[in-house]
Amino acid sequence: MSSKKYDVLVIGGGTGGLVLALTLAQKGFQVAILDRQTPPMPLPRGEILQPNGLKILDHLGLLNALLKTDVHLNKKVHFYQTSGTHLCTVDYSTLPAPYNYSLILLPEVLQKILLEQVDSTPNIHTYWGTAFESLAWQGTHVTGLTATQNGTTIDFKCSIVVGSDGAASKVRNALQLPYQAHVYKGGYVTMLVDRPQGFENDARYYLGKEQIFGAFPVSKNKIYLFYLLPTDKLTVVKKRGLQGFKTEMLSLHPEIAALFSEPLHAISSWDQTAYMRCFRVRCRSWVNHGAALLGDAAHAMNPHIAQGRNAAMDDACVLAETIEHCFRTNDFSQKALKHYEQNRRKDIKILQGLGDEMVFFWNAGAPPLVWLRDRVFKKVQQRQHLHDKLLRTVAGLQLKRFNLQDRWHAIRP
Ligand SMILES: Cc1cc2nc3c(=O)[nH]c(=O)nc-3n(C[C@H](O)[C@H](O)[C@H](O)COP(=O)(O)OP(=O)(O)OC[C@H]3O[C@@H](n4cnc5c(N)ncnc54)[C@H](O)[C@@H]3O)c2cc1C
Repeated sequence: MSSKKYDVLVIGGGTGGLVLALTLAQKGFQVAILDRQTPPMPLPRGEILQPNGLKILDHLGLLNALLKTDVHLNKKVHFYQTSGTHLCTVDYSTLPAPYNYSLILLPEVLQKILLEQVDSTPNIHTYWGTAFESLAWQGTHVTGLTATQNGTTIDFKCSIVVGSDGAASKVRNALQLPYQAHVYKGGYVTMLVDRPQGFENDARYYLGKEQIFGAFPVSKNKIYLFYLLPTDKLTVVKKRGLQGFKTEMLSLHPEIAALFSEPLHAISSWDQTAYMRCFRVRCRSWVNHGAALLGDAAHAMNPHIAQGRNAAMDDACVLAETIEHCFRTNDFSQKALKHYEQNRRKDIKILQGLGDEMVFFWNAGAPPLVWLRDRVFKKVQQRQHLHDKLLRTVAGLQLKRFNLQDRWHAIRP
């Protein structure tokens, strides 16, 4: 058994964990990152990097490098009914410059840029293929952890452990922090296909009765398609066969058939698709003595809001400030770390709440709800202040709850 000592141990080398390690390293701390996987860790889906995430990457000096890679710079997201009627266009170019766009990319492209920076930072130490097993305690304080790598046990000592290990966090359980985990009924079948001719630059959603089909460009040549499928229907749909599934998607609207029939020919096996379940996590406390949770481990949210990865980066920046203060005052107590949680919880509550409202309306099947959803979309299109408030929240720039007056404006004639 070997033993290592660092200032901070980060469990989970996802975006939040990497951004935290880089920010702490800039402040001069010795940081170790542990992940049970070994990079690259590809995910078969495109994701939106929102303006708040862009701003953080810019401050880390990484945005220009990311913009030079094969990612899609996106200005507009169009929403249509599956009948073809245009409902609304969300326009990022209405946001204040310089972060008046989003990037749509494969998560591994961002991870590569972050990892290159991690590898060239001497005070960050990486342990890939290393699984967190248990925490080490001294009384009520966390003082380190035990992990395994290729069957070998490694003991780590540190002042703070950060659990950035995703929605099913093992660190959260080890910290004995009470939480509620919700699995949404709707997950997504996702796939990457060639970008067809006639597909312009913008991302699209088509919404029907319990139907959501999305097409996001993720690079010069590829687009990412996703289709809502309740988890309890997955087995039946797979049994019915891939061809039947593709026909169902293509028959949503003639435009979908015209654009995507050709690229979907290349999908000949379920192995070329993935099924993504969606989770929400609500944790009574995100911190303990000598430990904190970050990203999905603390507060996974529905992907409709397209903020999970971006919010994890925001967490990382606030947590790094709090950790710096802990070292300055030599106080690693739950109370000292609570500053981070207090700073972030309000925004997270708004994002999780809005995500759930989106699920309620976007995924709706009952005709009155579908009617109401479509009306709200049309009003958001017509009423600039609603569009701007919604976009600033989803963009992570200015998070505000929708009050009664907004709701009235969203339905009134
Ligand atoms: C369909 C779908 C679409 C989405 N779209 C978007 C989007 O457009 N924009 C957006 O911002 N977000 C999106 N999200 C959410 C986003 O993917 C997550 O919020 C984000 O990945 C969370 O990052 P994280 O670092 O907290 O956790 P993760 O990315 O889950 O990383 C956790 C890491 O911890 C490691 N780990 C786990 N257990 C252990 C262990 N015991 N020991 C060591 N390592 C461990 C894992 O290997 C992993 O690398 C989407 C999610 C879904 C499901």
